[in-house]
Amino acid sequence: MNELYLRINRPFEIEIIDEEKELYEGVVMEAHILETFPKALSNLLARIEKPYLIDPITYKFGIQKTMEELIEKRWFFGLTEKFDPYNKIFSRYDILAPDIWNHSLDEYFTKNVIEYQKNRLSELFRRQEIPTLMSFIGEKVPDKDITLKPEYVIPPYFIAENEKWFDFNMRFAKEAIQIEGEESLIIPLVLSRDVLASPKLDNYIRKLLSLNPPRIIVWITALNESQETETCLITFIQMLHILKEKSRGIRIYNAFSGYFSDLLQKIGLLDKVIHGIGIAEFRDPYAETGPPPPRYYMPFLHSFLSPDNAEILRVECPHLFSCNCGVCSRDIPITEMSSKELLRHFIRVKKNELSHKISLLDAISSLEEKIEILKHVSKEKPIIRNILMPNIRMMERWKQVLSYYQEKLY
Ligand SMILES: [Zn+2]
Repeated sequence: MNELYLRINRPFEIEIIDEEKELYEGVVMEAHILETFPKALSNLLARIEKPYLIDPITYKFGIQKTMEELIEKRWFFGLTEKFDPYNKIFSRYDILAPDIWNHSLDEYFTKNVIEYQKNRLSELFRRQEIPTLMSFIGEKVPDKDITLKPEYVIPPYFIAENEKWFDFNMRFAKEAIQIEGEESLIIPLVLSRDVLASPKLDNYIRKLLSLNPPRIIVWITALNESQETETCLITFIQMLHILKEKSRGIRIYNAFSGYFSDLLQKIGLLDKVIHGIGIAEFRDPYAETGPPPPRYYMPFLHSFLSPDNAEILRVECPHLFSCNCGVCSRDIPITEMSSKELLRHFIRVKKNELSHKISLLDAISSLEEKIEILKHVSKEKPIIRNILMPNIRMMERWKQVLSYYQEKLY
């Protein structure tokens, strides 16, 4: 079965995740978000009873600019205290980097990062009083002594821009295997996008596979499926293909996914896709971030449009619109949908997209068909052409990449 894992990014998503339990299989939350909303998140996880992963986000401590900003954050001291209880690492606020790292701390740091993931949620949940209140309003009360355990734990990791950083990650991965055994772990393969074009890539993959990891979580930073060149996407799927072919049944999770990743899951190159709710199809750790504008996920295009553009299309090309979610069934203008409604619509559509099986050849011909339809409707009005053109190009690139895979590797 195709499985959907949701990444929790913003506090107002908690309500949706709580209410739409039947639409996803697991959740991923980042350590700093857990530290920012400890009550709400520990309660949520106790109630939904789903597999979860905690991303320890250690990469943030390896980026100079980010590190300076982090010290200002409310969660910084709470989290670094857990990762470094004896103040051996973060006391000078230096970034964590292979050139200055003291390797006698490998075990200490790895152990603390793992212990955090294993114990933090249960600790937070037991500490709070909310369950009494929940029983008062008639909600399901989780057992106060409940033990919340992540599905797997993630060793400390950084963004591998070159071999030095890649080997840095490998040290923590090896250490984690020593401490926990590989069956409890999911090993991160976190590469800067430029590394995909590097001749060193094969070497990195060999080193990773020498650890015999049963599962890995992949993040190619700033790889944006909907805008990426064919060359870059081809290298990405070649990498996944090699990982699958040269391992004994490695399971691959994709940390930031869009519809192209969903297709890769359907054809067996990925095992789990992790989606943000209406955001986080990719992440660039060096970019400035702000709250994303509201977007409508258009099922036919498998991508987002601004509510204004989506509404123009809905009026001009109603035959391209079919969504039977509770929000769209109300038949209101898309521009009048609230942010929460846009997210509820997204998660329903995503579940639906993932529940359909499709073969590689069918995926290619479905893209082909859609490209023809979109080109046809674009002929009539320039405004429609302007809205659809980026999506047509995106689908053409995806089609080419999948066709290449079908011819050369499949
Ligand atoms: Zn809908």
